[in-house]
Amino acid sequence: MKLLICPTPGCSGLLYLEDLRCDSCGAEVAYHALSGTMVAINGPDLHVANRLWHLCINRDRGCNWLSDGDSSTGQCFGCRIIRTRPNDADLEALNRLADASQSERRLLVQLNSLGLPVDPYFEDDGGLGFDLLSSEHQQVTTGHENGIVTIDLAETSDAYRERLRVQLGEPYRTMLGHFRHEVGHYYEWVLVEQTGWITECRELFGDERASYSAAIDRHYSNGAPEGWHDSFISEYATMHPWEDFAECFAHYLHITDTLSTAASAGMELVPGRDVLPALPLAVSPRSRYGADDFDALMDDWQWVSAFFNRINRSMGEADLYPFTISQQVADKLRFVHRVLTQLPRTRVSEPDGFGRTVHSTEPSE
Ligand SMILES: [Zn+2]
Ligand SMILES: [Zn+2]
Ligand SMILES: [Zn+2]
Repeated sequence: MKLLICPTPGCSGLLYLEDLRCDSCGAEVAYHALSGTMVAINGPDLHVANRLWHLCINRDRGCNWLSDGDSSTGQCFGCRIIRTRPNDADLEALNRLADASQSERRLLVQLNSLGLPVDPYFEDDGGLGFDLLSSEHQQVTTGHENGIVTIDLAETSDAYRERLRVQLGEPYRTMLGHFRHEVGHYYEWVLVEQTGWITECRELFGDERASYSAAIDRHYSNGAPEGWHDSFISEYATMHPWEDFAECFAHYLHITDTLSTAASAGMELVPGRDVLPALPLAVSPRSRYGADDFDALMDDWQWVSAFFNRINRSMGEADLYPFTISQQVADKLRFVHRVLTQLPRTRVSEPDGFGRTVHSTEPSE
């Protein structure tokens, strides 16, 4: 994502999306989703771009976003789109919610930057919403249904999430990854299954009408098929065409967000240096790749991920991107890229900063 800079005149401190204050100058800051910038706080009411904004009422729980002055709830868009949260007495789960919400807001920023429509559940039946609940206290099944994404807050515990990762033999497991995967189910449903893309999608990913419960049984008793690396990005993707699409969608978000962050910092890989001797041409990651730029996207990612994997190993960490993209997986990612770069027109930014799908008033034939 775009690098965020402290708004205080004379301070050029780098900020994280989650920051409540600038480490360099100490100023309190808030995130303005409509402009995608950090703004300085000089009181409870802020005028940004000729409009009144308030601090989100969840600021004391770590939310640094602004809420539209017209919002009756006092919550920012990122908090409003959370449909169900733990109850107020469950302080531990509320702390976990604060952690998970950081990933959720990071997801929303990226969806917006890719031009994806974010139709919230409180405006549209079947719109996007999040049920964020902890399995420490109730039955929670991570998944997507009719626009609502459910995420298990218990997984914000590093110990618990890491135990699951090892048990399941996964090379990568993060909260942001869960959000990206689950929202992939939502976007397959609205952008592919309900449109002309579905025929081509079935050719690449298989028929999503296949029994899901039979797929779960098969996956957990037999595991992934021999040679799965040739056609799938992960073992989980082999389970069912829906999971394959959601995994590819999540990887598309991993790849484009990382490249965009590198681009925003002006990163360039230059040939002729020791680190990447085979590099044929300079690689300059882009913040956006157009409809015809998929090959450039894959090429840039091959070099940038190879470089960042080495950076991580220098710190004794696991690879930043512990995956191999085979030709068949690249074809699936190309499909996701085409769908996302040929979106139906969305109405530009609502006051809350997020675009909505334009619903045609023309009679449909
Ligand atoms: Zn500052
Ligand atoms: Zn908020
Ligand atoms: Zn899934």
